[in-house]
Amino acid sequence: MVSRIASNRWATAKRYLGLGGSEQVDVARRSEMRVGQGFDVHRFSDDPTRVLVLGGVVFEGERGLVGHSDADVISHACADALLGAAGLGDIGMHFPDTDPRWKGADSLALLRHVRSLLAADGWTVNNIDSAVICEAPKLAPRRDAIQQTLSDVVGAPVTIKGNRAEQLGAIGRTEGIVCFATALIQRESGTTESRTT
Ligand code: MG
Repeated sequence: MVSRIASNRWATAKRYLGLGGSEQVDVARRSEMRVGQGFDVHRFSDDPTRVLVLGGVVFEGERGLVGHSDADVISHACADALLGAAGLGDIGMHFPDTDPRWKGADSLALLRHVRSLLAADGWTVNNIDSAVICEAPKLAPRRDAIQQTLSDVVGAPVTIKGNRAEQLGAIGRTEGIVCFATALIQRESGTTESRTT
């Protein structure tokens, strides 16, 4: 430590005295990290043909959700968290519900596309954690399947926590499902610069 301080002082002194030469110095690569928050809510549908999909996992025999796509509220919240972290807008901007291309869309494909948008900017996903609030269905029996499915798509650990609304408000009256997600992303940055020593 002492020798490093002494070395830095000597480098500074040489700079002031004009004794140094010029050389290429590799500036340490540094990791840039950003956090993003996502939110989504969908109400239950009265249409018996709607299929309930949560985190890419189909819940047979459960009421489906209303939505332009497959209404996968967990995948949507995760996508929004990733886009927010990378400063790439939000899910509505990339996949507007007025666009017929996304009608009935598989939300895992949307999430996969979001991952590719981040990758194009050099970002990799560190992890996503999410909280799902609903009275039904029970998530615990399918939690591992959801986590594995989403982790495979984003290439990083995705964790899911199920919560009930304790019969409070619309979610407590089993009118829909809410999901919050937090994503951490990172990318490496670093340059070689010319510095007088
Ligand atoms: Mg949505």
